[in-house]
This record gives sequence, structure tokens and C-alpha cells, in this order.
Amino acid sequence: GETSDSFAIEESLKELAQLADTAGLMVVGSTYQKLASPNPRTYIGSGKVAEIKSAIRAFEVETVIFDDELSPGQLRNLEKAFGGDVRVCDRTALILDIFNQRAATHEAALQVALAQMEYQLPRLTKMWTHLERQAGGKVKGMGEKQIEVDKRILRTQIGVLKKELESVRKHRKQYRNRRFSVPVPVVSLVGYTNAGKSTLLNQLTGANVLSEDRLFATLDPTTRRVQMKNGSEFLLTDTVGFIQKLPTTLVAAFRATLEEISESSLLVHVVDISHPLAEQQIDAVEKVLAELDVSEIPKLMVWNKVDKVTDPEKIKLEAERREDIVCISALTGEGLLEFCNAVQEKLKDSMVPVEAFVP
Ligand code: GDP
Repeated sequence: GETSDSFAIEESLKELAQLADTAGLMVVGSTYQKLASPNPRTYIGSGKVAEIKSAIRAFEVETVIFDDELSPGQLRNLEKAFGGDVRVCDRTALILDIFNQRAATHEAALQVALAQMEYQLPRLTKMWTHLERQAGGKVKGMGEKQIEVDKRILRTQIGVLKKELESVRKHRKQYRNRRFSVPVPVVSLVGYTNAGKSTLLNQLTGANVLSEDRLFATLDPTTRRVQMKNGSEFLLTDTVGFIQKLPTTLVAAFRATLEEISESSLLVHVVDISHPLAEQQIDAVEKVLAELDVSEIPKLMVWNKVDKVTDPEKIKLEAERREDIVCISALTGEGLLEFCNAVQEKLKDSMVPVEAFVP
């Protein structure tokens, strides 16, 4: 039906905006169009191209992101139509950017690099046809030869990466039972994009639960050193969020960016409990966690956004009925003290003896 279609599109665009935000972009607007079938040249119709073009001028837009995968030709034509330095990309390229920023282990970096190269392979044409145009078409054919050479180089690199990845994996399996010696325990936040992980990370600064002098030291954009009033300390780290529409080609890269959590002392699963699909999202996250070899690591679930639900008391009773759930609002600060206490309790239970020190 029309309306449910629009709902799905709007939800998907909302998620895309959230992803763009995660990638460090500022979103100025979004739009969509219903066509019987995508325009083979530009994906959207010419009227829509013109509309976006004027928005580009009005807002000094640098990047235009499409929610679906574009063909190499569509990408090229759109860049030409929008003109200048406007970068056109699709959802897959955006997600790859995020994974690239978030890849914390060598293995994850390799996996993401591999996905990026595989994504580039069919899109190589752009550079060389561009050169041909510059040469006024005089060197026709030269571009095609170059594309073949480039593709061969890229395929070789892909082969090398795959071998390296295999050896890194073997190495990890050998050492999988050895834990890194971390002076402070690491607490990893997992959950869907938009669940409120980064809000929680940031709000802890303002909450009155941390020690006065060294509240928070930012290690990188996604890790904070949390020092509580009672003197205890832990590293709180945000992981790349789960995504509704993850292109299948990126599943391996996504898993790899999550591998690092296997070194954590505690996993905190942040849920947007006000979301109509909260239960499904919980299941999806738990399914992936089950596949990640983290069954030994203690878990704590956080039901976030209790300020937004219609019946918060009912939600809180339900949370009490189940185990290991803390209700919070990362936005208002409600429940943050309870959250920190619950983390403390869990960490006390989970102190793993240090077996090996890896500098
Ligand atoms: P992340 O993708 O998990 O890091 O999610 P964010 O921290 O970026 O939060 C996504 C959106 O949810 C933002 O617009 C937040 O302002 C909002 N949000 C986060 N926590 C809460 C909350 O407790 N209550 C409400 N009402 N909104 C929240």
C-alpha cells in the first residue's frame, strides 16, 4: 500500500541521515521520488535532479547520498549533473566510510579494505573515461586498456588482502583464549543505530556520577575513560551500530568491526525501548552477538528513552521482572546513576585473571 511504502521509505531515509551523522556529515535535508522504475541514466528523474541541484546551491551541499545502490554510470551522470565538487555516493559507500573510521583491529581494517576494493572494482571506469574526455576523445581506447590494467591490479590486491586476512584469523584463533592485560576494564556499548549509544556516552559527562577532577578523557571519538566518584574506573567504548538495511556485501565487514568487543569485560546492550520494533531489534542484536564468540562476556541490557514511552511504569515493571535490565533516559539523565552502579556490580563479578601481557 501507498502509505506503508512511504513509511518504510521515510524510516529508511531517517536511518540514512543517522548514518551520515555518524560518518561526521551534517544533514541539511532529504527527499524522495516515486517512479515506476528508476531512470537508467540518473536513477531519479530530470525534474528531481534539477530540484536537488538548486538545493545544492542554496545550502552549499558537498555530498549527495542515495539510499539505494547506484550503477557506476548513474553515479557518473549524477556527479556530472550536480557539477563542481559535489560528491555523490550511495548507502553502501557511506556505510563503508563508517566501518573504515570504526575499524579498531587489524583484522577489521583488512576486512573493511577488502569490502571497499570489491565495491570499487566495477566502478573503476569513472577515472579513465574522465581522462578521455579531457583529451577530447583523441585517445579513445586508451581508457579502456587502462581500466583493464587497473582492474588486474585491484584483483591482485584483493587476493593479497584475502591471504593476509586468513593468516591474521589463524593467528587470532591461536591466541583467542589469551586476554589482553588492560589496566582498566573495557565496557562496550552495542545496539542499533539510533538506540542512544553516543548520547549515553556524552551524557555521562554531565551526570553527577563521575569524579570531579578527571571526569572524562577522550581517547578517540568513540572511547571515554570513565572515573566514578567511588574511585572505580572503566573505559566506555561505542561500537558501530546495527543497521536495518545492511547491504549483504557488507555483512562480513560489519562483523569484523564488531570483533573488538570480544576483548571487553562487559557488553552493554543499549535498546531504544520506545521504538515500535524494539523486540525485533533486540533479537537481531542478540543473534549477531551469539555468532561473535562473546558468550563468556557478562552482559547488561539498557532500556533507553524511557522518557519517550507512553507508559514508563509498565516498562519499568517489565524490566524488573526480567533480569539485568536498567531503564534510563540518556537524554534527561534519568537512571544514569543506577546504570553506573549496575556496571560496577557486573565488573566486580567479571574480573578475569590476566594471563598474558601484550604491550
Ligand atoms: P546511537 O546511534 O546509538 O549512537 O544513537 P544517538 O546517541 O545518536 O541517538 C539517536 C537519537 O536518539 C538522537 O536524536 C538522540 O537525541 C535521541 N536520544 C538518545 N537518547 C534518548 C533518550 O533517552 N530519550 C529521547 N527522547 N531521545 C533520545
